[in-house]
Amino acid sequence: MAHGEDVKYVEITYRGIFQKRLAKYIAEGLVYMAREMGRSAVSFGRYGDSPERNGVPAKYYVALGSLNEEELIGYSTRVEPETVDVIVVLDDTLLKGVESWAWQGVQPINLKLKEGGAMIVTSTRNLEELVKVTPAKEFRWDMGRINVEKSFSGLWAFKDDMTMERVWGAIAKMRPDIVDLEHVRTYVKEHKKDRVNERLSAVEEAYETLVVKSMAPKEGAEFKYSPPRLLTWQEMMEGAAVPAVPRGGRNEQFKRGTTKTERPTVDFDTCIKCKLCWVYCPDECFDETKDGYYDIAYDYCVGCGICADVCPVKNCIVMVNEGRFKDYRRPYEMWKEDKVAYKSWLKQVREGGVKERVVVPGLGR
Ligand code: SF4
Ligand code: SF4
Repeated sequence: MAHGEDVKYVEITYRGIFQKRLAKYIAEGLVYMAREMGRSAVSFGRYGDSPERNGVPAKYYVALGSLNEEELIGYSTRVEPETVDVIVVLDDTLLKGVESWAWQGVQPINLKLKEGGAMIVTSTRNLEELVKVTPAKEFRWDMGRINVEKSFSGLWAFKDDMTMERVWGAIAKMRPDIVDLEHVRTYVKEHKKDRVNERLSAVEEAYETLVVKSMAPKEGAEFKYSPPRLLTWQEMMEGAAVPAVPRGGRNEQFKRGTTKTERPTVDFDTCIKCKLCWVYCPDECFDETKDGYYDIAYDYCVGCGICADVCPVKNCIVMVNEGRFKDYRRPYEMWKEDKVAYKSWLKQVREGGVKERVVVPGLGR
């Protein structure tokens, strides 16, 4: 019978579809490297929606252990491990929280991290900024940052920008007990022969330049959501009746706000009330207001950007990096409350938070 100490876990948190192959390749490499280091290892995927949808927070796991492979597979046959040794975060906007358990609530990104564990984030923001949105833990742990733009690849195409090599280099630096630098180098040389020198440089660069912060107990942000708790059989309704959502209403259990990397911001002063955003939003996030404007329920918005694409007024709807927002306050309510304050808030969140839109091959944009 296996004990927790016999098995170590790496959790890779990524955005469904956009980063699926990246996460899978990172996990695959770790399995090879761990085996070369004399351990058994397996990887397995887990997602919170079915089928995996664009941008949905999803996870890959690697289990490594001193058990034989059969035992390790048996031990790891569960939806999620209870605790993990290393977390890799492939999009820094995931630090705010992930809805990853059948939409039962928002979970802290580092919920499962063990005491003394390591979390590695790909981000161009500095560590101080990341700490402000990362939930505090009761114990000490380490956060590392790889200074790289987040990499979106897509399910049907792979943006081979050396992010996986950087992640391996960073793990080797922070947790050589999982994989060491020598085995990363050997794996890259043997399995990634195309542009091998560039890949080796990416590994070395991440290893050398990784910025690491030791997080003290209680250091970081207060987590404002209730982490998910699955209903027990005693709490479930008898039978299989699912109450329908009333027309015009929303399913309170199916919020998807953490799915987005970018959020639409609206300039109500220039909106011409054409209704196109309301018509085109695939997740029905817009609510028509009494005076003909359209308010957004951000906790349902997936950040697809279609509203920004169809809005006919220049800069009326602008997509902004999700990391710049602290809450899901509705924009129309904020505007009605204080129009001057809203305008200056809009200017402030748009400044520096607007990037060239991500184009994912195969999605028709
Ligand atoms: S980005 Fe716009 S269109 Fe897409 S889900 Fe959000 S509100 Fe709807
Ligand atoms: S598409 Fe743009 S202009 Fe039209 S109602 Fe929506 S926000 Fe206003």
